[in-house]
This record gives sequence, C-alpha cells and structure tokens, in this order.
Amino acid sequence: MDLVRVASPEPGPAAAWGPSKCPWATPQNTISCSLSDVMSEQLAKELQLEEEAAAFPEVAVAEGPFITGENIDTSSDLMLAQMLQMEFDREYDAQLRREEKKFNGDSKVSISFENYRKVHPYEDSDSSEDEVDWQDTRDDPYRPAKPVPTPKKGFIGKGKDITTKHDEVVCGRKNTARMENFAPGFQVGDGIGMDLKLSNHVFNALKQHAYSEERRSARLHEKKEHSTAEKAVDPKTRLLMYKMVNSGMLETITGCISTGKESVVFHAYGGSMEDGKEDSKVIPTECAIKVFKTTLNEFKNRDKYIKDDFRFKDRFSKLNPRKIIRMWAEKEMHNLTRMQRAGIPCPTVVLLKKHILVMSFIGHDQVPAPKLKEVKLSSEEMKDAYYQTLHLMQQLYNECTLVHADLSEYNMLWHAGKVWLIDVSQSVEPTHPHGLEFLFRDCRNISQFFQKGGVKEALGERELFNAVSGLNISADNEADFLAEIEALEKMNEDHVQKNGRKAASFLKDDGGPPVLYDE
Ligand code: ADP
Ligand code: MN
Repeated sequence: MDLVRVASPEPGPAAAWGPSKCPWATPQNTISCSLSDVMSEQLAKELQLEEEAAAFPEVAVAEGPFITGENIDTSSDLMLAQMLQMEFDREYDAQLRREEKKFNGDSKVSISFENYRKVHPYEDSDSSEDEVDWQDTRDDPYRPAKPVPTPKKGFIGKGKDITTKHDEVVCGRKNTARMENFAPGFQVGDGIGMDLKLSNHVFNALKQHAYSEERRSARLHEKKEHSTAEKAVDPKTRLLMYKMVNSGMLETITGCISTGKESVVFHAYGGSMEDGKEDSKVIPTECAIKVFKTTLNEFKNRDKYIKDDFRFKDRFSKLNPRKIIRMWAEKEMHNLTRMQRAGIPCPTVVLLKKHILVMSFIGHDQVPAPKLKEVKLSSEEMKDAYYQTLHLMQQLYNECTLVHADLSEYNMLWHAGKVWLIDVSQSVEPTHPHGLEFLFRDCRNISQFFQKGGVKEALGERELFNAVSGLNISADNEADFLAEIEALEKMNEDHVQKNGRKAASFLKDDGGPPVLYDE
C-alpha cells in the first residue's frame, strides 16, 4: 500500500515540491550551474550549441538514426562504455571550466585551459581551421615538451646540515609540489596545500599517467576534428546541416537514404531561400543531401579522377585533403549543372556548401527512385531504357563533354518512365589522360547489363564505344581495341604537351572549362 501511495500522482508531499524539486523526479533539462559559469564565454558558446543540438532532433530529424542519440544501440558493452566515458568527459570539462575561471579571476590576461578539455564544442569551420594542412598536424601538436629537468647539484646546506636529494622528506615534498606542473586538467587532488610527501615511485607513476592522459586527450581531439564517423556525419557536418534547416532553406531532414564508401545521402523536405524576396530561389519539395565523407582513405583511391582533370589540376597540388574532398562535391555540382543544361534527366543542384551538396530528390514521398539494378522492367520498358541510355551517353559525351566514369545499373535511377543519371563526382572530360578507358568501362557495364536483360538491340561494348564517341576504332578484339584507345590517349597527351589542353585532337572545342566555384 505504501508503494502505491509513493507512486501515486495524487496530491501529497511530492506534489508540494513541484516538478523540479521532487527529489526522485528525473531532472528534465535542468541546467544547474554557478554564476561564474554563466559568466564564462566558453560556457555560453557551448550552451548555444547545446541549444541548437537540442532543437535539431525535433525540428529536423524525425527518424534519422544517424543524427539523434535515441536510436543508439545500447546492447553493446563497448558502446555503453563509450557513452559513460563521454558523460565523464563532459563532467570533467565542466569542472575544468570552473577551475579556469578561478585561475584567471578578474585578470585582464587570461590563460585558456581549452586544450585540456576532453570534449570540444564544435565550431563553425568557416574560420581559419580550414587553412590547416593536415599533413602538418599529423604530428601530435599537443604533445607536451619534454619535462625540464630541475638543475641538480645533488645537495643543499653545508657541513653537518647537508641534505642530499635522496632525503626522503624533502624529496617527497618536492614531488608533491611538482604535481602542480601536471596539465591543469589533471586531477591531483588537494594535496598540494598539505604537507604531503610522495615517494618517487608514486610520483613517477603519477607523472607517467598524467602525460599519457594528456596524449590520449590530444589524440581524441585530433580524431574528433578530423574524421567522420563511419556511418554518421561528423559534428561539423551536422552543424552545417542544422544551419540549412535553421535558415529555412530546408524544412526537415528526414533520414538517411544511403551510406556508401564515399558519401552519405540524406532525404530532406525543401524550405525556401530568402523568404519573401523576389529573387528567392525555389527549393524543390524534396531534396537529397549528399555528404562527401571526410575520411581520407577512400578518396585516396580516386585521386586519378581529379588529379589529371585539367579543370582541377592546378588547384589539386596546392590543397590539403579537406579541400580535396570539397572538390569532389564541387565537381559533382559542375557536372550536374552541365548535364542539366543539356537536358539530361539528373538531379538539379540546389546548393553546395563545403563538402555537402544539396540537390533535387529523384523519387517521391521520401522513397528514392529505384536503381536500374533493382527495378523489374517489362521487356518493352527495358528496350526503352536501353535507347534512353544510349542517347544519354551520347549527350553526355557530345554536349556535356563528359564521360561518366562510373556508369552502371547502380548509378541510373528509373523514375517516371525515364532513366536518370546520378553520382557524377568522378566524371571527367574525354580528354582526361584516362578518359577513353573510363568510357570503355562504362560501355562494357551498359552493354552487359542490357544484353543480359534481354535487349536484343543492345550494342556490344566496342560498338557502343564507337557509337558514343564517334570514334571509329576498328579492332575486332578487346585487347587491340584497348591498345588503340591507349594510343589515342597518348597521342592526345603529346598534343596537349605541345599545344595546350584546349586543342585536343579528337574533340571539338566546347567553349572551355566551366567557371570554377569559389566561396
Ligand atoms: P555513392 O558515391 O555513395 O554511390 P550516389 O550519388 O550514387 O553516391 O548516391 C548513393 C545512393 O543515394 C544512390 O544509389 C541513390 O539511391 C541515392 N541518391 C543519391 N542521390 C539521389 C537523388 N538526388 N535522389 C534520390 N536518390 C538519390
Ligand atoms: Mn553511386
């Protein structure tokens, strides 16, 4: 009976306390902090971010498991441990902030403890951080300088009063005092003010621990700032996405459509740009947000697509990896724009922000159009799809001066009775040193797909290559055909060396490269 009374919402002692004072009530978004905390600029910054983060899941992510924390699988011990560690780190940082405040007091010159924090508030990366060259930061910048050895003469005093450095009491006190030199965030307790004597053994163990903790924390910071979690997006990307929702450009981000090796694609409902103004851009009702992953490994493999693309070549060598990833997004944007101009069915570019490309969504009601790989087409539709594809490839080559370079049934969507081309970040101009080889590979994929799909009219890979490129390679076996392709590429390269890229031998002049997008 007692139990019933305690749990009952009926008026009683619990109700008298009110919701927040009830001792067994779960705290609900109550932020308790001292006045000095409120004064802290850092805290203010963090609170604002927390606010944004808190607002976002409701507004923007209805069911996106990649952004909210609600769907985190708690069945794994590792995950639980990591969550607890994060909780601990947060409390630790709060304490550090208080210490920082105390340390600096009202002094005009203040010392920041920022680098000793375990969890960094994420910042807008519009700032100088972008200029950082990763190569230069690989070396742990937070590694403490070697501890300065205290000058030792080994003893003090004279005659009978000599005390050597081996004196236990003196040594113990010194050790205790030296703890002050540990990183400010390192918890040494309040022993410093006492007459505490630490043995060398204990001191050394503590010192070692302090250094390794410091390095661990530095590594953590590096990781946080520079990598993208495998599935989810990193905090900076998330912030950029919040901003798109906050600005009203997007209505909501509903969830993830695809997680590939190099990108994560989200679905979003479009909002509007510059509300009310005449020049406000119309945002498609449904959008796809393609986030290029900022992990480097995958992109390394793709160097060849961009390094030799003359549109990007000059910039490539000067850039740090983060910028190179943005270049992929930029490349996709340019290529889509060219395709749009030629009337090829493809997503319309809405906005490019760093490594995030927002485009129109091909599909309906959050359901993306199926890939040609997945869709079951009638033989009539299949034949239709084939002729559309042939035409698309010719348009792409002749009107857009592009080779898709990753064309297959996986990157073609079937929507409203039409074949749509997507995923063109790796597309290159045919004069790319390997452009014709890429085209041949595309032709092989397409030819095989439609031939296997029962389209009798589908051209073989070599015929398709000639039909698309307008070249007349007559070799009747693959090896010779490829040899001729490579010879053409070589001839073109030599020609370029002498006369510049524009005068490529097997291409008509298309008016030059597109104007590059620069922020
Ligand atoms: P990846 O480089 O990861 O293959 P893609 O551009 O091919 O990137 O996108 C991955 C998947 O996301 C596609 O297979 C498609 O299902 C979906 N997708 C991408 N862009 C769109 C879009 N604009 N509309 C609908 N679905 C899209
Ligand atoms: Mn793809």
